[in-house]
Amino acid sequence: MNDNLVHRLREIQTTIPSHVRLIAVSKTVPLEAMVMVYGEGIRDFAENKLQDAIAKQEQLKDFSDICWHFIGHLQTNKAKKAIECFSWIHSVDSLKLAQKLDTYSQQALDEKVITDLPQICLQVKILPDENKHGWSISQLYEDLETLKSFKYLNIRGLMTILPLGLSSDEILSAFAQARDLLENIKDSFNSNFDQLSMGMSGDYLLAIEAGATMVRLGTIIFGDRKPY
Ligand SMILES: *Cc1c(COP(=O)(O)O)cnc(C)c1O
Repeated sequence: MNDNLVHRLREIQTTIPSHVRLIAVSKTVPLEAMVMVYGEGIRDFAENKLQDAIAKQEQLKDFSDICWHFIGHLQTNKAKKAIECFSWIHSVDSLKLAQKLDTYSQQALDEKVITDLPQICLQVKILPDENKHGWSISQLYEDLETLKSFKYLNIRGLMTILPLGLSSDEILSAFAQARDLLENIKDSFNSNFDQLSMGMSGDYLLAIEAGATMVRLGTIIFGDRKPY
């Protein structure tokens, strides 16, 4: 099984161009599997539950060059903790959350709890999806001015998750829309607003084709997840 994991990962790595960052989504994955993936050179790991992530960070603290990414829905009362524990937060999905992150980031810097601001992505719903959090494209345009005013947010780009059940053409076209959106709002942000976090196990090749800079892969590396 472990040989399989390493074999699968190496195969996947050959499909990912060097300018695209492969993020291993390790939610529910046992530590041994994470360590194996680390052994293959992967340094980016993503979690979607704060408590689980913190427990793993504690257990893996000797692996000090791991870059931790948060990809789950973040409740505002956990925003402070998230700033302290993650280098990247991909799932900033509302103005209210962005506002809290801005306030707490300033505090955390002042109190020297952190030395660098986490890098964040704004989560957008390219296609309507009742089951997901995030900005619709039109809401994002409405909130741009306010987002720009947050001095303590290091906004690096956009993150998107597509609804299930789309054809390849629809997937490619939706990812291309995300890329166009990034281009169109770029001027509102600083020059390092250039990241597109998109593509999961089932659609990452199309995401890369459309311009993804980060892909978030779980199942295809680690196998099926145990249900929560
Ligand atoms: C679970 C998860 C992934 C990984 O999904 P797979 O289909 O297992 O690759 C990627 N992004 C987010 C936000 C997730 O919650």
